[in-house]
Amino acid sequence: MMVREHYDLIIIGGGPVGMALSLALRESGMSVLLLESRELPEKAEDLRPLALSYGSHLILHRLGVWQALPEITPITKIHVSNRGGFGRAVLVADGVGVPALGYVVNHHDVFRAMHGSIQACDIDYLEGAQVTRLETSAGQGQVEFQYGGTTKRITAKLLVLADGGRLIEQVEGVTQHVHEYHQWAVVARIKTGIPQSGIAYERFTSDGPVALLPMGDYFALVWTVSPAAAKEILSLDDAGFLARLHGHFGDRLGNLIDTSKRSGFPLALKYADPVTAQRIALVGNAAQTLHPVAGQGFNLGLRDAWEMADEIIMSETEIGAPAMLARYAHRRRIDSKAGRVFTDSLVKLFSNDDPILSGMRNLGLSVLDCLPPVKRFVARRMMFGARG
Ligand SMILES: Cc1cc2nc3c(=O)[nH]c(=O)nc-3n(C[C@H](O)[C@H](O)[C@H](O)COP(=O)(O)OP(=O)(O)OC[C@H]3O[C@@H](n4cnc5c(N)ncnc54)[C@H](O)[C@@H]3O)c2cc1C
Repeated sequence: MMVREHYDLIIIGGGPVGMALSLALRESGMSVLLLESRELPEKAEDLRPLALSYGSHLILHRLGVWQALPEITPITKIHVSNRGGFGRAVLVADGVGVPALGYVVNHHDVFRAMHGSIQACDIDYLEGAQVTRLETSAGQGQVEFQYGGTTKRITAKLLVLADGGRLIEQVEGVTQHVHEYHQWAVVARIKTGIPQSGIAYERFTSDGPVALLPMGDYFALVWTVSPAAAKEILSLDDAGFLARLHGHFGDRLGNLIDTSKRSGFPLALKYADPVTAQRIALVGNAAQTLHPVAGQGFNLGLRDAWEMADEIIMSETEIGAPAMLARYAHRRRIDSKAGRVFTDSLVKLFSNDDPILSGMRNLGLSVLDCLPPVKRFVARRMMFGARG
């Protein structure tokens, strides 16, 4: 592929959010270059499930990605409970006037569907292109990257960082705030005695939350544990692992019959402030990386990409000019902050042994279950973000 010397837009990072932005701009007439450091999309399975909101489903549908997903499991009910307590809440799709509260898909299916669409359209896309340096001036940005053993430099009106936050240190005026949770997420697929029927279970324990999301004919597990427990759990054999999970989650789903291999992810809250700088904007995990407890991360990232594309297409000022960047930052401010605070509060409220907090969470869940407007608020927040 012949690469130009100058583009309207360079997107750094071909993860799901960078690819979503590229796809949203494919018919815009803008010149776009997408740079991804990995050589090939992961052939190995990424076991991470993605719980997608109803709003994300609408965006992915418009991008043509939804139609290419081989397996989509609707969530019709969310069952939230507290181990060792009486509180519990049930959110039901019917209660909020939508066909499903959300959908569970495989991370790697989303990745493959997007990757296929990118290759089929005329977006300039380089794999194995590792960006090493960013530089900007008032009129443009420049990226330096390694590709095929050589160093290349290309300029654009706007650089969008969709790299998960790895290059933030190079962006002048942007601070990355980091809060380590000292927790890991262990993920796996679990076959249970009682088959899944569209119900997602979120069980809070003093060690951290356990989520079992319906996916095909099994459940996708996201189990939050301390780093030491993660190490131990990841080294157990299948039988030992299932026994430990059963002890933790309880009998609600009958016996735990089978498990896939496991993988672990260290968890931290990271967010950038502000999310724009001279000729640079941040989207997805580069702008905010959240704890997976409420399944908000990719949903937020997708809205970043969608609104960035809209801003680029509708902008009456030049792409990457201060006025356009200010509008993008303003549009994303409330949604991003609300997602971050909502997720972080859940982790803090539910991940400890404090008897007062324990009383509050029992009460909170009981109240949530009795008050339909509050329940609707929580459900709509999960489904549509801050504007829900
Ligand atoms: C266990 C777990 C469960 C989750 N569950 C959910 C869920 O249910 N719902 C939900 O909405 N979200 C969930 N998330 C969050 C979701 O996975 C992320 O929000 C999403 O993957 C972020 O995508 P991204 O494209 O912004 O970043 P990334 O996926 O980090 O992609 C960044 C890309 O940039 C590339 N890159 C990095 N540096 C460079 C460079 N210098 N040059 C070129 N390329 C570079 C990388 O190779 C990578 O491909 C979960 C996360 C975890 C860990």
